[in-house]
Amino acid sequence: MARYTGPVCKLCRREGRKLFLKGERCNGTKCSFEKKSYVPGQHGQTNRRRLSNYGLQLREKQKIKRIYGIFEKQFRRYFEIATGQHGITGTNLMKLLESRLDNVVYRLGFASSRKMARELVSHRHFTVNGKIVTIPSYLVKPNDVIQVREKSRKMDAIHESIKRIHGDHELSWLILDKAKLQGIFVQVPERDQMGVDVNEQLVVELYSK
Ligand code: SF4
Repeated sequence: MARYTGPVCKLCRREGRKLFLKGERCNGTKCSFEKKSYVPGQHGQTNRRRLSNYGLQLREKQKIKRIYGIFEKQFRRYFEIATGQHGITGTNLMKLLESRLDNVVYRLGFASSRKMARELVSHRHFTVNGKIVTIPSYLVKPNDVIQVREKSRKMDAIHESIKRIHGDHELSWLILDKAKLQGIFVQVPERDQMGVDVNEQLVVELYSK
C-alpha cells in the first residue's frame, strides 16, 4: 500500500489551511500551521501569486486527496465511479471518500487521524460485521457494524482516542457504543453532514476538461 512519508505539516502550509493530519497535535499549540502559515520553501513568505482557474482546481484536488490520504490513481478511480452514479458527481465523490473504512474508523473516534486509522485497519485491529477487514479503502455500507477486534481491545492507542470523545458523539450518520468499542455506519452522510470545507465542484471541472 503506497503512502506519503514526507513531513505532513508542510502539506497544510502548502494548502494554506489546517488539514488535521496529525491527530491531537493539530488542536494544540504545537501545530506548525499556527506558527508558520505561509507556503513552505525559500520564497514562501513573499510569494503571493494569484492562482489561475486551473491552479485553483488543482489545489482543491490536492487538498481533498491530502485530507483523505489518497494518491492520484485511486482518487481518479473514485471520480470515475462517482461519474457513473446517479446524482451530483462531486457529492458522490465525497460520499465515496467518507465511506472508506479508514475514514469511518477515524470519524467514530477510534483513531486520532485518518493516517492512524489506516494503520490500525491494515494491522488487523477492526472487524466489519464480525469479519476482520484489513483494507483501509474498503467501502462501508449502511448498517455495517465496525468493531475493534477482541484481541485489540486493550490497545492504548484506541483507548486514548476514545477518551477524547466527550458527551454524545456528534455525527448523526454514525452510532458509537464506547463500551463495546463498536460503531454502526447508519447511512452514507449527506454533503452538509460531512463538515469538510472543500469545493469538490472544482475537481469535477478539472477532470471534465
Ligand atoms: Fe496540519 Fe496538524 Fe501539522 Fe497543524 S499539526 S500543520 S493541522 S498536520
